[in-house]
Amino acid sequence: MAENEIIIIGAGPAGIAAAIQLKRSGFNPIVFEKKNIGGLLNNANLVENYPGFPGGITGPDLVILFKEQLESFGIDIIYEQVQSLDYDNELFTATTESNKIESKAVIIASGTKPKLSDGITIPSKIKNRIYYEVADLLELEEKNITIIGAGDAAFDYALNLARKNSITILNRSDNIKCLPLLYERVKDNNSIKYLSQIQVFEIDETATNKLLLKCRNNNEDIDIISDCVILAFGRELLLDFMTENLLKQKDELEKKELLHFVGDVNGRLYRQTSIAVGEGVLAAMKIAGKNRTK
Ligand SMILES: Cc1cc2nc3c(=O)[nH]c(=O)nc-3n(C[C@H](O)[C@H](O)[C@H](O)COP(=O)(O)OP(=O)(O)OC[C@H]3O[C@@H](n4cnc5c(N)ncnc54)[C@H](O)[C@@H]3O)c2cc1C
Repeated sequence: MAENEIIIIGAGPAGIAAAIQLKRSGFNPIVFEKKNIGGLLNNANLVENYPGFPGGITGPDLVILFKEQLESFGIDIIYEQVQSLDYDNELFTATTESNKIESKAVIIASGTKPKLSDGITIPSKIKNRIYYEVADLLELEEKNITIIGAGDAAFDYALNLARKNSITILNRSDNIKCLPLLYERVKDNNSIKYLSQIQVFEIDETATNKLLLKCRNNNEDIDIISDCVILAFGRELLLDFMTENLLKQKDELEKKELLHFVGDVNGRLYRQTSIAVGEGVLAAMKIAGKNRTK
């Protein structure tokens, strides 16, 4: 282990920002990413609140710029999932399927994972046809897509996919939890149908290989046929890799500024790219500052 190596778990906006700042301060960030650089941002239809992009920028286009910036700093990403993170003898150990890497400080930027089916019966044979994000679906064309949910993500996914598909949003109540601006855009979009008071209780397959959503509207049963279903029920923190031993020491290690949680994984109510980026930079500066004052 080199003294200046710092492990970062996750290459979403928070991890990327932390890596760039650490590199600028003379450190060598070891960044693990289990899927794609950019994390959840790959799903964003139009990012309008990240400074520097008048008129907005799509999530995937912003990720391309993040990648270029990482490359310009010579920061390599290790495309492996951290399976466990432990702390012993003043050292963290991150273990992946083929690597075991140690460092004195760690930045956790692992974000969130989707909440699963929320009371909807889904047979295992079709589980791989149910999606929780849109990043892998952006090539779909002329499909009927049903999105279940009523928050920012559900409405943003709908606007994104409606460019080339017909979308139905199902909300189980009348309570809309998204930004008013997103709701207005959905209302004005002829390719999106929004239905409230629809409780989906089962999803199955039809004989023609479509998806059949069995729903209840007030006391009446209705069926909705769809090519693809996206569940957007909210997200929960992704911290499964922390060992019991580390969890016991977590508070103390945070207080000593050896362990940092940055971005969505912090569990705040408000989750945005600029917040994640700011927290990534802050953690990196604290690590660098600590080393300077030694
Ligand atoms: C539909 C949608 C629209 C959005 N629109 C906007 C917007 O307009 N403006 C805005 O500011 N924000 C927007 N956001 C929110 C923004 O995308 C997130 O706040 C931001 O991506 C959080 O960054 P993060 O780095 O904390 O986490 P994430 O982006 O979730 O990144 C975490 C990364 O860690 C990786 N990871 C997790 N566990 C491990 C592990 N064990 N080993 C290795 N890697 C791991 C994941 O694969 C992921 O790449 C939107 C989000 C969605 C879903």
